[in-house]
Amino acid sequence: MFADLAFVADLTPKEGARRFPVFNPSTGELLAELPDMGAADVAVAIDRADAARERWAGLTARERSDALWRWHQLILDHSDDLAAILTAEMGKPLTEAKSEIAHAADYLQWYAEEANRIYGETIPAPSNDRRMLVIKQPIGVVGAITPWNFPASMVARKISPTLAAGCTVVLKPAEQTPLVAGAMFALARLAGFPDGVLNLIYASEGDAVGRELCSNPKVRKISFTGSTEVGRLLMRQCSDQIKKVSFELGGNAPFIVFDDADVDAAVDGAIQAKFRNAGQSCVSANRLYVHSSVHDEFADKFAEKVRALRVGDGFDADVAIGPLIDARALAKIEAHVGDAVQKGGTIRCGGNRIGQSGTFFEPTVITEVTATMRIAREETFGPLAPIIRFDDPDEVVRAANDTIYGLAAYFYASNLKRVWRVAEALEYGMVGINTGRMSSEAAPFGGVKQSGIGREGSRHGLEDYLEMKYLCMGGL
Ligand code: NAD
Repeated sequence: MFADLAFVADLTPKEGARRFPVFNPSTGELLAELPDMGAADVAVAIDRADAARERWAGLTARERSDALWRWHQLILDHSDDLAAILTAEMGKPLTEAKSEIAHAADYLQWYAEEANRIYGETIPAPSNDRRMLVIKQPIGVVGAITPWNFPASMVARKISPTLAAGCTVVLKPAEQTPLVAGAMFALARLAGFPDGVLNLIYASEGDAVGRELCSNPKVRKISFTGSTEVGRLLMRQCSDQIKKVSFELGGNAPFIVFDDADVDAAVDGAIQAKFRNAGQSCVSANRLYVHSSVHDEFADKFAEKVRALRVGDGFDADVAIGPLIDARALAKIEAHVGDAVQKGGTIRCGGNRIGQSGTFFEPTVITEVTATMRIAREETFGPLAPIIRFDDPDEVVRAANDTIYGLAAYFYASNLKRVWRVAEALEYGMVGINTGRMSSEAAPFGGVKQSGIGREGSRHGLEDYLEMKYLCMGGL
């Protein structure tokens, strides 16, 4: 099954094309060598997507919805295989991989339903001899680029609203994790999407693919999830044609525990918000601010639970933390720990890599963290929790907002007035109140400031792939 699903590419690479390897980050095992597609392959895929556009948009909403339902069912039917592929190429624990596949299926279900609810508007006209209305139409060919940290749910989250809206798509998954995307595309083919509606590009890097997607005039929109740095580059490349963009970029999430918080609930929420996916998540709690009056209790209980998190191969039972994605990620977390220790931070647990090969890192808690440390300012993207003590509740909100990012924030408090005030004052696209987990296909996911443009999920996510057209009929 693994082989059947994983190696289906939508395009055959040109004779003698290069290939690139995909490794298991837990074992270093070579999983596959895929065709390394370039700009010419992307141009062919765009042509196919453009040729399929009218046919796909010309189907009824019900027909598009039915295809999404079939794909949803196939993903559920093959969820164990998909989860195994995901754990093999990305490293996350199998239980997390299974819940990611379920989450991916949830997006398909949501947008299979939403495809039937694309409504326009009628506008009361200023005179009786005319009628005014707004219709919604698909934007056209969409170029999509996804990251490695949630390689299945990011594909579903981008593609399902695209298809529901009546657009066609060319997608490039991250080079570290192309296999689960390949398997999902193989299932899409079984679901009976017409040729050219979904097109997959395997490539060992994003530069050439991104350039072609941004510069080809047949592509009407770029949808990207990844780093803010690449988002900036894509935005510049899209500027010549004023191409529309949806971006989900980096984050630097604060997690605030106020003095009126339920400390045990906050500890559990912080474990979830920080250590899911080994901290390699854009909504990962990156800075934990804890009020002085509950600081020691929180830090003791939190460190005790963190010490109990088992690190290892995602296929091993009871493993909570898999490897980091690659050596670069390991070097970054080591540099962040070194910088914090040098500036006076106290390691409460962890702090070291595990073994001399591989990319496993101990889940780490550091206290006595100050604003000048890198861990207080930069996205670590790993299993490292810095705890910053605070006394002034107004000052902590200012500190939480003092970042170029604005994706997710969390806080724990019980006073109702405080809950509303803080929720409104945090400059973030998403705020978790007394919870460490908030992603849902039914809710708008996305950020403000340099964390992105647009939203994914919910009915708002569909609007990002629709154009509004105003029709005015006179002489009635
Ligand atoms: P990345 O930006 O390096 O890579 C993401 C994707 O972009 C990959 O497919 C990659 O091949 C491609 N890419 C790289 N350079 C490119 C270029 N020049 N042109 C076009 N495409 C290019 O990011 P990453 O390291 O894979 O992911 C980590 C980052 O993504 C973090 O900052 C994280 O916060 C962010 N992220 C954000 C969200 C969100 O929803 N906001 C979700 C997941 C990850």
